[in-house]
Amino acid sequence: MDGHGAGPRAMIGSHPRSRKDGVSVRLETSVINAAANELAPAVAGHRRAIHRHPELGFGEHRTAAYIESVLTRLGLSHRRVVGTGVVAVLEGRGPGCVGVRADMDALPVPEAPGRAGYRSEIEGLSHACGHDGHVAVLLGLAELLAATHDLPGSVALYFQPAEEGPGGAAPMVEAGVLDDPVPDAIIALHVSSAHPAGVVALRGGPATGSDDTVRITVHGMGGHAAHPDTALDPVPVAAQIVTTLQHVVTREFDPAHPVVLSFGTIHGGTRHNIIAPSVELTGTFRTVHARNRALLARRIPEVARAVAAAHRATVTVDCDRGYAPGFNDPAVTDVVASSARSLVGRERVVSQPDPSLGAEDFYAFGQTGVPVSMFRLGVANPGRGIVAPHHSPDFDIDESGLPVGVAVLAESIRRLLDGR
Ligand SMILES: [Zn+2]
Ligand SMILES: [Zn+2]
Repeated sequence: MDGHGAGPRAMIGSHPRSRKDGVSVRLETSVINAAANELAPAVAGHRRAIHRHPELGFGEHRTAAYIESVLTRLGLSHRRVVGTGVVAVLEGRGPGCVGVRADMDALPVPEAPGRAGYRSEIEGLSHACGHDGHVAVLLGLAELLAATHDLPGSVALYFQPAEEGPGGAAPMVEAGVLDDPVPDAIIALHVSSAHPAGVVALRGGPATGSDDTVRITVHGMGGHAAHPDTALDPVPVAAQIVTTLQHVVTREFDPAHPVVLSFGTIHGGTRHNIIAPSVELTGTFRTVHARNRALLARRIPEVARAVAAAHRATVTVDCDRGYAPGFNDPAVTDVVASSARSLVGRERVVSQPDPSLGAEDFYAFGQTGVPVSMFRLGVANPGRGIVAPHHSPDFDIDESGLPVGVAVLAESIRRLLDGR
């Protein structure tokens, strides 16, 4: 953080910070850094409290209750949606509204040893994607905003369940959270193990991939491995379907547009000398462009059927749609980028050159037509050994990066509301 150490400290004060207490803080760039830094211990405390009790998607009961208790203490009204989702709205003086989203769920990843004071207390589960940090940042933002007296417009806080699956953003949209108030933009962050703590990384345009799943069952006829002519062996057919579909990926799509098809499982047969009656393949296919997504969804069954037919076999193909491709609205992304640069300096704001084919259900909010943008917030610290990738048992967060998230969100909100 550059800057404002000698600035207007205690604008937020050490306590209390709730709306009903009438603490007066102006939402200005010059005080946001200082305010976010003052909130650092509280944000780290929230993160650790949530980290100790990880919960899977739509099971975030304790996490939701914790969020509600903090919001209540801040004097903010809130409501439950879709079971474990929580929405709070801070009303400002103007008609505009900006939404901010944090996902809440953990993963079935057993936590590696270490982390005195904030170990997962639930066997087999951990916050290995860092969503505990997202909730903590949003609660810190709630505290900062609750203490302001001149919010230029409204801010809606969306605490969203089940990002890791089956997806909580689309159910929240269906439950009407964007209907009242209607946000003009929605922003979010995801912590990043690929960037040093406090570094902000972002890109406008295509950002994340769709993640549809495919299941192909190749039906042959079992028999003796010594007499393949009396059977119909589905194993070489399955192998050929895999390789032919890789040809489709490299030959039928613009190579400048990322497309990936990966088969994660292949199962069939019971013994080395028995021809299996069937083989099952499951995989994921991902693109960042809707038209490529549709093309691949059409070509996978076509090619699988044609390859099978060439060898007298048949196939059953099921495709399930997952999250949509993620698109960061360029104008909103520019506001977030300039906000971040003003807070942490140009050298700590980097652009992400390419989209990721990881998927993110935040963009379901954007599917409604509301402009959305998500940035990456660095939480790595090689000096402290905090470098493990997301979803790994060793994943951890350097909490010193989290106040930067609070500050960037607050400044972005101020600029988005003022810019109306
Ligand atoms: Zn994840
Ligand atoms: Zn995540």
